[in-house]
Amino acid sequence: MSIQPIRLFGDPVLVTPASDVVDFDKELRNLVADLTETMLEAPGAGLAAPQIGVSLRVFVWDVDDALGHLINPTLDLSEEIQEGEEGCLSFPELRYETPRAFRAVAKGWNMYGEPIIVEGTQLLARALQHETDHLNGILFIDKLSKSDRKSAMKEIRESDWFGITIAAGFNPAIKVSPHDTFGRNL
Ligand code: ZN
Repeated sequence: MSIQPIRLFGDPVLVTPASDVVDFDKELRNLVADLTETMLEAPGAGLAAPQIGVSLRVFVWDVDDALGHLINPTLDLSEEIQEGEEGCLSFPELRYETPRAFRAVAKGWNMYGEPIIVEGTQLLARALQHETDHLNGILFIDKLSKSDRKSAMKEIRESDWFGITIAAGFNPAIKVSPHDTFGRNL
């Protein structure tokens, strides 16, 4: 188990749809452990495998003091919408109003290959949607209003981390103060 560098926006892995997990083996359990450890250290409320450079359909969360993980998820969403700001560990310091379904039911598998159903509202529902999007190569800035997306892109271009990422072709290790995110980034 080890803490992995979190890939930042600009890394192609973040916009690449991830592959289904086929083997529920020790390697998968190590991936879940690495994701969990990396999320807790960030700290964040959720983390998807592509965010540590692994293009597999796996994510973890830490919401309301409960840790969880899900593999090869599918989602059913409520029509009822929740308002609220959202952030992402792959976008240091960005937070924007991001509409999401109020309630989500996620079906998938745990790391032992057993089918599980996870049902959540509010932050858990938000996390399930945000992380499933990551597995499809969709990022939270894709969910913003047109004007917020424009501001977000401007903020990204002007950020310290964006140019470095692109120029170097890899992600610098960025430490974001937990006070900026209250550990709620996904
Ligand atoms: Zn994210």
